[in-house]
This record gives sequence, C-alpha cells and structure tokens, in this order.
Amino acid sequence: MSSVRVRFAPSPTGHLHIGNIRTAILNWIFAKKHQGAFVLRIEDSDARRSTRQSEQSILDDLSWFGLTWDEGPDKGGDYGPYRQSDRLAIYQEHLRRLQVLGKVYPCCKSDVELEEIRKTAIERGDPVPYIRKNLEASESELQVCACEGKQPGWLFEVPSCEIKWQDLVKGELGFDGGNVGDFVVVRSNGLPTYNFAAAIDDALMEITHVIRGDDHVSNTPKQILIFEALSFSVPRFGHIPMILGADRTRLSKRHGATSVKEFKEGGYLPEALINFLSLLSWSSESGEEILSRDRLINEFSFERMSKSSAIFDTTKLSWMNGQYIRNLSGDKFKELAAAYLGNIATDASNEEVLTKVLNLLQTKIDYLGQLPELVQPFFVDQIQPTEGEAIAISSRDSSQKVYWAFVRILSNYDHLDANVFRNIMKEVQQESGIMGKDLWIPVRVALSGRIHGPDLAAIAEILGKTRVEKFVRQLVD
Ligand code: GLU
Repeated sequence: MSSVRVRFAPSPTGHLHIGNIRTAILNWIFAKKHQGAFVLRIEDSDARRSTRQSEQSILDDLSWFGLTWDEGPDKGGDYGPYRQSDRLAIYQEHLRRLQVLGKVYPCCKSDVELEEIRKTAIERGDPVPYIRKNLEASESELQVCACEGKQPGWLFEVPSCEIKWQDLVKGELGFDGGNVGDFVVVRSNGLPTYNFAAAIDDALMEITHVIRGDDHVSNTPKQILIFEALSFSVPRFGHIPMILGADRTRLSKRHGATSVKEFKEGGYLPEALINFLSLLSWSSESGEEILSRDRLINEFSFERMSKSSAIFDTTKLSWMNGQYIRNLSGDKFKELAAAYLGNIATDASNEEVLTKVLNLLQTKIDYLGQLPELVQPFFVDQIQPTEGEAIAISSRDSSQKVYWAFVRILSNYDHLDANVFRNIMKEVQQESGIMGKDLWIPVRVALSGRIHGPDLAAIAEILGKTRVEKFVRQLVD
C-alpha cells in the first residue's frame, strides 16, 4: 500500500444523499488509483441526531456500491476507534494540549448568546480583540460557572494572518483570520465541534488527502489552524463542486429522488450510478461516458475536474442506467428483476413467458422500477387502459374500425407470431384505410393498456393468438 490515506466521514443522521455517495466514490477511486487506504469514519459526536440504524444503512449502501473500506468501525484498523463517540477522551486530551499551548480560551456564554455577540459585533464592525474580550470568560464568570456545576466551552483564538492552501480542485484558496473569527472547539457539555473532531481525527488517522464537498470550504481554514497549532502535518484538501438540480438550485427533495435508498429501490444499478456520479464535474480525456470502474480508477485526475457546480440530469442518469441494464447477462437481469415482480416471478407456470417478456423488456427499460407496470399486462385476463389518453384512443371511431378489422383478419390465421402480426396489421391498414399512429396506437392500447412500450409485434407474439384476440375484443364496443 502507498502512503495515500483518504477517508469518508459521514454523519449517521439519516440515509446517504447522492452528494455523500459521490464524495465516497471519488475518495474510493482516488485510494484505488494510488493503492492507498480508504478509511470509513463515523462522525456521530452529535449524539442527539446520530443513530446506529443510520450508521448501518450507510454501511449497507457502501457495500451495495462495492465501495469496500480498508478500516472502519466494523473492521477496525491501526488508527481506531473509527466512531467519534468512542474517541471523546482523545478530543479532551487534545483540548488540554491546546490549553497548555495557550491556543484556546474559555467562554461561559450559551451558543445563542455567543452567536448574538458575534453577529452584533460583525454588524458594528468591531475589531477582533474587542469581540474576543466579550467572549472570553472572566475569572468571576468562571467561578459562577463552577458554582453552578457547569463547564465552560473552549474557543480557538484565530490569529489575524491569512490562512491559505492549494486546493486540489479549486487552486489557491485563502481566508483572512479576522473574517474566520474565533470558533468553538469544545462545547460546555464537553463534546467536540465538527471542526475540532474532524481535524484531530484526520491528523491522528494520518489522512493525506481530504476530499469532500465544497460546502466545507469555509471549515478548512479552521481545521488547518488546529493542525498547525498542534504541529500536525496538514493534509491536501480537495473540495468537489456541489450538485445542483436542473433549475441550478442546490439538489434537494424538490428535485425528486436524492437519497441512495430511493435510487436503489427504483432499480438503478450501482455500476451505473458510480459511472454517472463520477462524471459530475469530471470528464475522461477521451470524452467517453460509459466507463467501467477500472477505467474510472485509471483515468481519474483532479486536473480534469471542473471548478463549477454540476447539474444532476436525471434523464441522463436513466439513459446511462439503461445502457448498463442492456449489458447485463439475461440471467443476471432476471435475477435482479425478480425483486420487482412480486407473484409473477414465483409462479412456475409462467416461467417460459416470463423469460420472453424479460428478454423483450431488457432492451427497453431504463430502470428496474419500470418493470411491474410493463410486465403485468402479459399476465392478466383483461387489459385496463389506465392513462386517460389511452382510454380516449380506444373509444375513437377510427380505433373501433381498426379493432373490428383486426379481429376479423386475425381469425384467418391459426397462429400468431411477430411476422404474422405485421402481416395482419398491413391487411388491417388496407381494409380500413387507417394508417400510422391511428392504426398502431389503438392496437398497442388494446395489448398493453399503454400508448408507449416495446416492439408491438414482439408483445403480440408473447401473448399468443388467443389472448391477443381476447384483448382486442374487450375494447370493441
Ligand atoms: N461529517 C461531515 C459530513 O457528513 C464530514 C465532512 C468532512 O468530510 O470533513 O458532512
């Protein structure tokens, strides 16, 4: 293994979001590319919001994607523990070091008071030393605090210099210490803040590259100050542009599915999602878009990463997922499809028909969640057009004319396959004078209940003569 060590550090407060998993994917790819270590750290120091259930669902999601980690809460490793709630003594120890070094000062204000003081001071343009004086607990405040059995919180004293780093994605970034402002490292309840815990963990876990979303850019100067104050070597930072919805606002529930769980349940394949998410803000040198995991690992580089936000294009994801579905072996497709088919898949008498139906649909669908609706018409006694437009089409005069002609011509044939079906449609056209959409869509509605779908001749062949005749007759007034 090389010296490269990256980490994915989710907070277990809910299901993984598409943005989180993209961060995990890029870290994993980077680790693989450099034969380094991919560390999983659970940031659960906020006990009120963190749950073991969420942690488990994160582990399950990562496993589903095949993003195996080298060290983590379930696996252990030389740099553990890997759950922040198990590292509280470590944060206390490093707080003591900061106290000895004179880098932090106590504060007895509540979070709300602290924010209020800071806000007013910023509005008034108060100089940093003045704000600090208002925040720092006096001897008497500390005594009152102690009498009430309370502990003070601890703030990091930010120097008034510029804090700069060479970001792997964004190039040189810098913040003025005065604008960063003193920040809490340990709260009065003894718990570390995110910035403190993350910096201590990254340092002790010897993380070499911190790759995360650019919503963390403003945290980085604070973390660099902690590294430097404690004489830890500062890792490289790479801030990945955030993902926006089609309307260019931050990707959220309003844009539809955003959690890994939703895509998993909708029948998206992990390989397709990895491919798609890697291509947000990054492109391969060849410009090719369907890239295997191995190619992503070989070809990934921060130099080819864009600095601007990426748009989450659901249509493109569906297209890409469709490509991956078509590349599955028939058996693998059938195995994955089973989870979407309920009883249909378990009824052995349907086996042959089901295989034909699935072969047909594998070339057509974009995600497995489309299957139930498309498979069902092959296994019912009556087709019920559900879409309003389909119902309207079936009762048009011209459609009725098509149905009558179809049923009559079909009776001249003793069996029905795709070729016979096409011949019948030609004859129906000649007899009724109806052609194009007005000819084909009513028949599609009769055989599937829908106005779009896979090749109609293939559908007819699978259904067979008896059921085709029955379904068309059912729509004749
Ligand atoms: N727990 C933080 C998050 O989920 C981690 C941020 C980081 O990678 O430093 O946003």
